[in-house]
Amino acid sequence: MIIKTRFAPSPTGNLHIGSLRTALYSWLFARHHNGKFILRIEDTDLNRLDSISVNSILKGLKWLGLNWDEGPYFQTNRLNRYKEVISMMLEKEDAYVCICSSEKLLEIKKQQIQEGLKPRYPGICRNLKIKDIFNKNYVIRFKNPLVGEVIFTDQVRGKIIFKNTELDDFIIQRSNGMPTYNFCVVIDDVDMKITHIIRGEDHINNTPRQINVFKSLGFKIPIYAHLSMILDESGQKFSKRNNALNILEYYQNGFLPEALLNYIIRLGWSHGNQEIFNREDMIKLFNLKSISKSASIINTKKLLWINKYYINNLSLNHIAQLLNNYMQKKDINIANGPDLKALLELFQGRHCTLKEMMESFRCFYEECIIFDFKIAKKYLIVENYFILEIFYEKINNLSYWKNKYILIIINDIAKKTNLESKEINIILRFVVTGNLHTPSISSVIYLIGKQKTLLRTQKAMNYIKNM
Ligand code: GLU
Repeated sequence: MIIKTRFAPSPTGNLHIGSLRTALYSWLFARHHNGKFILRIEDTDLNRLDSISVNSILKGLKWLGLNWDEGPYFQTNRLNRYKEVISMMLEKEDAYVCICSSEKLLEIKKQQIQEGLKPRYPGICRNLKIKDIFNKNYVIRFKNPLVGEVIFTDQVRGKIIFKNTELDDFIIQRSNGMPTYNFCVVIDDVDMKITHIIRGEDHINNTPRQINVFKSLGFKIPIYAHLSMILDESGQKFSKRNNALNILEYYQNGFLPEALLNYIIRLGWSHGNQEIFNREDMIKLFNLKSISKSASIINTKKLLWINKYYINNLSLNHIAQLLNNYMQKKDINIANGPDLKALLELFQGRHCTLKEMMESFRCFYEECIIFDFKIAKKYLIVENYFILEIFYEKINNLSYWKNKYILIIINDIAKKTNLESKEINIILRFVVTGNLHTPSISSVIYLIGKQKTLLRTQKAMNYIKNM
């Protein structure tokens, strides 16, 4: 048997951490078993359709390398298929036409609530065999069994039992002719030969309804695994409707796909105490057995830690490539400065994200830097003018652009001015980079280059003069 899983988002918002975890686990389970992973967009709920969401979902999955073997299927392209099955179900009397008005249903619901009952459709039209539907407002309902139980073994939560008396004849086709989620999902899972359904626990209550449809159509019921919730850092439910961050914002914030996947796999799955999993490890080790029943909590500090780990441990070439693409998207032209790899080596261990790197490195590529007014007040002062003057002259006269000669210049200035090197360093650091923290200043100046160094020193001298 070929294992087939699917990721079936409704395009009602961006791809966020919770849905990404569902996608990742489904993808890993398929890859682990050499199976197939399918992408399906559940878009029959027309009011909520959003093509921006579809793009965000596809882009996010592609960025993270969660490639799909089939799809994306769109449910709205399969409407004929759903109609065909609904006609068959009507014929076999597994479904029926219901003409109860919404006012009537509301009244029934009110009454049930008053009596302390769970609101459910009481089956008024179930045995009416309404055929004359011309010009009438109607829905089609599934004939849910009246007695018995639905029992399934969830791979995360174990045995789950629902009594059929708790369920009702749910709508499979709305009055506007559109089939509903609980119905389409079954037809799709059958047609797409899905063997394992991994999804959020918010779907547990839908599962018995779907199982009953599988049974009534005579199809094999897939295996289910329902994932527990993800809570935000304050312990609140994390969902796409409130505070969930779009996955692509993690890209914007400089996270690596490797790190994000590693972080997400650990939100509810473990392998002993291991924290770091590369893609191959994940595929090799992933199983449903080790998925946790308890809710997971977002931990941004941990994500930063993992991101830093990958920045420091992936090959220099790979990080340089990622950073190159990242900086290009932010309009920083790498051709205007040193080899990124030299910078990465010099700044080794200092950054948690590509964004932080970009902020530290932009002064090597951009023509101008902007002095922070508050810091300038401390360093760009008349008393320091002569330091800059000597520095400018010595740098200008330097014929061989080498780190060691720059260092000699700085030490000379320290001697000449009777200041400590570290005092000179901090002034120069601010003048040439706009920052107060960098690795060895001579190496930084070396990589910034002579022309930019002179230009910035001149700018700083002018700044002091104009004060
Ligand atoms: N479309 C549903 C959602 O986005 C998922 C349905 C399923 O996985 O069965 O929540």
